[in-house]
Amino acid sequence: MEATRTQQTVSPQIKISDSEWEVMRVLWTLGSADAQEITSLLGERMDWKLATVKTLLGRLVKKAAVTTETAGKKFRYFPAVSEEETIQSATENLFSHVCAKKMGATIADLIAESTLTQADLELIKEALAAKVPVAKIACNCIPGQCECSEHQKTTK
Ligand SMILES: [Zn+2]
Repeated sequence: MEATRTQQTVSPQIKISDSEWEVMRVLWTLGSADAQEITSLLGERMDWKLATVKTLLGRLVKKAAVTTETAGKKFRYFPAVSEEETIQSATENLFSHVCAKKMGATIADLIAESTLTQADLELIKEALAAKVPVAKIACNCIPGQCECSEHQKTTK
């Protein structure tokens, strides 16, 4: 695989809030649910009423993260995006705010702060072994957003 791959295959952006994420986790786990079922699972812990869950579901439908079907008078909700692609989208979004030159240090920090099993370590080692390093990384920031040396001429 060529090194430019990650630049070209950015998945469609799925931007969901922390609360919406909690709802999605139930839908991913159960496959589908109605507002009542979600409220009985999350309501107490999250301090949500049925109306809160309905609002969150409404937002998720608008964002095309969830689809809905009517069963009698009830609405049933289905995840329209996978957990994997949502996590990937959130990670891409987070990393889009980081200078390309700081990516390595950010990933190293992430590993250092994570609790990992031997199997996880093997996965990371495999990913590292397959990675082809580049000689130099260009800063992708707007001048004024970071202190990379290539920007110091353009800022006064
Ligand atoms: Zn930069």
